[in-house]
Amino acid sequence: MTYTPFPVFHTCVEAVTQLSPHIIRITLAGPQLRNYAAHGLDQRMKIVLELPEGGYGDFGILDDPPPGLNQWYAKWRMLPADQRNTIRTFTASGIRPAQEEIDIDFVVHNPGGPASQWAQQATPGDRLLVVGPDSRAEDSTGGIDFRPGAAKRILLVGDETAFPAIRNILTKSQPETQYHVFLASEMVQDAQTVQQTGPNQYMHRVTPADGQLAVDIHEWALAQQPATPGFYAWIAGESGVVKQLRRLLVNDHHVPREAITFSGYWKRGRAEH
Ligand SMILES: Cc1cc2nc3c(=O)[nH]c(=O)nc-3n(C[C@H](O)[C@H](O)[C@H](O)COP(=O)(O)OP(=O)(O)OC[C@H]3O[C@@H](n4cnc5c(N)ncnc54)[C@H](O)[C@@H]3O)c2cc1C
Repeated sequence: MTYTPFPVFHTCVEAVTQLSPHIIRITLAGPQLRNYAAHGLDQRMKIVLELPEGGYGDFGILDDPPPGLNQWYAKWRMLPADQRNTIRTFTASGIRPAQEEIDIDFVVHNPGGPASQWAQQATPGDRLLVVGPDSRAEDSTGGIDFRPGAAKRILLVGDETAFPAIRNILTKSQPETQYHVFLASEMVQDAQTVQQTGPNQYMHRVTPADGQLAVDIHEWALAQQPATPGFYAWIAGESGVVKQLRRLLVNDHHVPREAITFSGYWKRGRAEH
């Protein structure tokens, strides 16, 4: 039997935990999650919300056996906007196949979009469709962008939306590799949800107001000279900020483009779809 790498998982909210002022952890449970691949890192996943009036548009997402992404996504795109369920991208912050559970950490932002609002109203028993990697598929590693190769000096930069990925990356850190971590958030309690997990991890918690993040990274780069072999940077967060930081590292600090992975996780003033 061949398995599709990114099937749909039917889940229910098991627990809602206020992790910090702006982060809500939703624990999802369901028997299919025993096959959720535990690659972790920054592997992306999707959530599919019900329509405002409930249920799902006619694009085959509820088919049995669970369809793969390619099978339903093209049909979803063809539907009129009011019949298209909201789809948003997240990171599994915890994956426990043996317990048939995963966690997703939702950032509560204002004004909140559908995903942020869903998380704020979620209660145990609510249903959620998740599209994620299947451990039984031949290759379920799609959606992992963290590719440090043989780098021994790694810069990780992200805002609250990237904290789950950064936490996952630090959990799998190599003791001989240095990790320089910049966590950008308005409130230090949110940034404290990411803690050092091993040796050689240097944590910097930054308030992103007025470009302070770029100033801090510029100063860090002057001291650390990142344009040397064995360096790799992973940057995620608001799209404009991420581009600014990439330019800073490439243009001012001469880091080779291929030594940087950068991802706009959200765009100020624009919904994901
Ligand atoms: C690979 C990947 C992994 C991600 N992982 C996570 C994760 O684990 N946790 C998480 O919370 N998010 C994560 N995100 C970001 C998340 O997909 C976006 O924040 C998404 O826009 C939230 O959907 P929404 O329905 O709440 O808001 P939308 O309807 O998409 O947007 C509505 C409004 O809110 C604004 N907005 C969106 N996000 C934010 C924000 N974080 N802060 C302030 N304003 C915002 C938009 O600019 C827009 O004006 C990830 C994104 C990617 C691409």
